[in-house]
Amino acid sequence: MVEIKSKREIEIMKEACKLARATQKKVEEAIKPGISTWELDKIAEDFIRQNNAIPAQKNYPHPDSRIKPFPATLCISINDEVIHGIPSKKVFLREGDIVSVDLVVYKNGFNGDCARTYIVGNASEEAKKLVDITRKAFFEGIKYAKKGNRVGDISHAIGEFVTKNGYSVVKEFQGHGIGREMHEDPAVPNYGKAGKGIRLEPGMTIAVEPMVMIGNDSIVELDDGWTIVTESGNLAAHYENTILITEKEPEILTN
Ligand code: MG
Repeated sequence: MVEIKSKREIEIMKEACKLARATQKKVEEAIKPGISTWELDKIAEDFIRQNNAIPAQKNYPHPDSRIKPFPATLCISINDEVIHGIPSKKVFLREGDIVSVDLVVYKNGFNGDCARTYIVGNASEEAKKLVDITRKAFFEGIKYAKKGNRVGDISHAIGEFVTKNGYSVVKEFQGHGIGREMHEDPAVPNYGKAGKGIRLEPGMTIAVEPMVMIGNDSIVELDDGWTIVTESGNLAAHYENTILITEKEPEILTN
């Protein structure tokens, strides 16, 4: 069931979303060649806790109970890693890397979720273009995030834009409703048919998140049970915001 948030709930949720965005900025400022992904994680966790909030991804359970819960505040996915990369004291950013940072903040009972892909120093034209198209795919999608449209309209717009530009979208993972829970209905895939799926109504809050790869759309899960990489070894990028459906244009809550 898709929850419609009240005005009051949305006001509270905006705080979590604002803090999620501010945390991204903190991480972005710290990104440089030589920093470990563990250090970035520490910066984010400290900042979130200083702001009386909780890093919601930390200890998040894996759907397969044999795999340990996610151990960190940030998902940090470098180059061919698509999503859910685990920060580590042994992994250091290098000039030319692209690094996707996904985070969820839980504050006063609500979640805010956003992801960005950053470029470390100077990257190849190929990498820069991928990051740019991934961000643009989000904005193509939310053109359709309007009252009366359907979820499939967003999915279709993202998928068409990405494939038209010669890239692939991840099909196994998708955007989602968000609110008191990190993952709520509806699912918001990055491909699909226009005119399908549930109808969008004011008060719905959803995370729209294109995950885009160079080359084919095959992904592989690493042995840690979390990290998703491209099977080809090609680069991948991710861009996500939590948005609110309104009477008119969608509002980006994590901006
Ligand atoms: Mg996210």
